[in-house]
Amino acid sequence: MKTFSPREASRRRAWVAPLTVTVAVLAAAAFNLVRRPPPAPLPPLEVEWVPTQPVQGHLFLVRVHIPPASGILSAAGEAGGETLHFHAAGSSFESLAPVPIGATDTIDAWVEAAYADGRTETDSLRIPVLAGAYEHERLTVSPRFGSPPNAEDQARMQRDREKAAQVSRDAHATPRLWSPHVVMPRDSRVTSQFGTGREFNGRISSRHMGLDLAGAVGDTVLAAADGVVALVDSFLLAGNIVYLNHGGGLISGYFHLSEQLVEEGDTVGAGTPIGRVGATGRVTGPHLHWVVRYGSTTVAPRSLLTLAGVRAAGRQGAGQYR
Ligand SMILES: [Zn+2]
Repeated sequence: MKTFSPREASRRRAWVAPLTVTVAVLAAAAFNLVRRPPPAPLPPLEVEWVPTQPVQGHLFLVRVHIPPASGILSAAGEAGGETLHFHAAGSSFESLAPVPIGATDTIDAWVEAAYADGRTETDSLRIPVLAGAYEHERLTVSPRFGSPPNAEDQARMQRDREKAAQVSRDAHATPRLWSPHVVMPRDSRVTSQFGTGREFNGRISSRHMGLDLAGAVGDTVLAAADGVVALVDSFLLAGNIVYLNHGGGLISGYFHLSEQLVEEGDTVGAGTPIGRVGATGRVTGPHLHWVVRYGSTTVAPRSLLTLAGVRAAGRQGAGQYR
């Protein structure tokens, strides 16, 4: 039988005791593993978008499927640089999303689902986009508009941009107010398409970031969707404007009005008269310039009608937009 000197016995006790504790902890952990298995790994998120190839400069839908008993409580995310706002729609969470008109090939997005047990799962997406069929036109405009704006005009335009940007921020902070019932603000001819590239006096290049609808001074302009009146103002280029906040990031704007029929804070429904066609601001004649934005991303207004599944009342009809 081997005996230990007192010094050796002491050294032995020094590591035997911790070892015993370690074994006990491991045994307890193993017992716990058997008794309470950790939650199963989360299945991959089922994310789809509609249409399958969103178009440059158009709105599209992002859907996060909620499988039965999956425990998915909510979804969040971002696409094309804008925050998504999901709401329950059947067996999915659904959000509008924009493809910036300058996007080429793909846009980046991510989606996060929150589960009832407190866990979250994030999925990164690279969404392929289809090039939009945008035209290019040369315009000759009066020297006042063709030459660079003076300091006073520049300051005014900056102020106008800041006010519009505030409406966009407010829309991201407002719960969804719009419903799928969306209407054309005027039942009239399209006089200038959204997205057309413009060359002023052969030098300045820009895009027409709204849809022009024909009208005579005084003709009625309708709210395109449910929302609240966010801004009633007079802008240098856009003239008399009304901006509507539809919540969930969505806004619409109505430019060059001769008269505004609503006040800030008013609640409007799709089809509520909000103003009258005019020729205020930078225009050559009366018409309505209609703007739709998701956050600060301006999109083809009629892509909203297409997604809402509503036929445009205008002669062009829904689904033929560019
Ligand atoms: Zn226009």
